[in-house]
Amino acid sequence: MSKSLLTVPMLLSLLAATALAAEPKLTRYSFTEPHMGTTFKIIVYAPDEAAADKASKAAFARVAELDGIMSDYKPASELMQLCGKAGGDPVKVSDDLWTVLERAQEVAKRSDGAFDVTVGPIVRLWRRARGTRQLPDADDLAKAKALVGHDKVKLDPKAHTVQLTKEGMRLDLGGIAKGYAADQALLVLKKHGLARALVAAGGDIAVGDAPADADAWTVGIAPVEDPLSKPKKYLLLTNAAVSTSGDAERYVEIDGKRYSHIVDPKTGLGLVGRMTVTVVAPNGLWSDPLTKVVAVLGPEKGFPIIEQTRGVSGYVVRKTDKGEETSASKHFPEVRQRDEK
Ligand code: ADP
Ligand code: MG
Repeated sequence: MSKSLLTVPMLLSLLAATALAAEPKLTRYSFTEPHMGTTFKIIVYAPDEAAADKASKAAFARVAELDGIMSDYKPASELMQLCGKAGGDPVKVSDDLWTVLERAQEVAKRSDGAFDVTVGPIVRLWRRARGTRQLPDADDLAKAKALVGHDKVKLDPKAHTVQLTKEGMRLDLGGIAKGYAADQALLVLKKHGLARALVAAGGDIAVGDAPADADAWTVGIAPVEDPLSKPKKYLLLTNAAVSTSGDAERYVEIDGKRYSHIVDPKTGLGLVGRMTVTVVAPNGLWSDPLTKVVAVLGPEKGFPIIEQTRGVSGYVVRKTDKGEETSASKHFPEVRQRDEK
């Protein structure tokens, strides 16, 4: 090997050593807690266990706080209180609920309601269908659909009030709240001085600075058929978020047809195609709702819509008769990635 070839990596490792010198030796710690109907996982690099423990406790507490605001299972949540006033006057909401609803409306407008948090009444019928394995009744679906539509939500950006214009409306933040919660948990860790961190809220992952011993976080995209088998593609990310939506975990099979927990607000039906959608974005408040845009509209229509936001791209794996078929949005190749052979 020639001398000049040797010097380049040596120089690089020297540079890396000087950059790290300012930082104390960091150890990797990980924690999990159940929140928002899923498992939240935190990975942090911290100088000692006490620091990691303290910061992650605070981050989980923040997630619990957000769940208390946005849950549609807890009758006392701020969200359910707001839904209780549907058909009435505008209601002043907390900063967190405002932030999420403002983004939800933005994504709903851009996608012409493919993502729409007013789907609550429809989602409720499909949740029941998962229990009974019977398709929702056509009349019930028609009634539910009449309560759906982002045009029935009025936001006042000055007063931070929200008005739900029809009685019986029910908001469902299941497609956006976890992305926001992952962002917020990451922020808490950063405020505690732990910027080298990852927060996974089920399929919604937000990452900060790189791990102490790598230059990026490696996140695998699970295969559509067998999500527990080895990923075929890995993304290498820092200060970004990635969300995956698919039918792998939550679906109902009725008469041999598999319906996803993601519904098309226009038809009121659970999606039937077998696919997983992955969206990379600057944060989870973008990546989480945008997976539903691509799931409902399909990659051809969905990709151009999600890429209206800078730093966003998407990747879809579909199951067809011929096996797995993948498609990537225009900017997806700009995301650092590694394919497994
Ligand atoms: P998770 O992160 O829990 O895997 P997703 O991010 O895939 O879930 O979002 C699915 C959830 O979003 C559903 O369980 C439901 O609560 C809600 N949802 C379903 N369809 C839509 C839609 N078209 N627009 C907005 N929210 C939806
Ligand atoms: Mg999600």
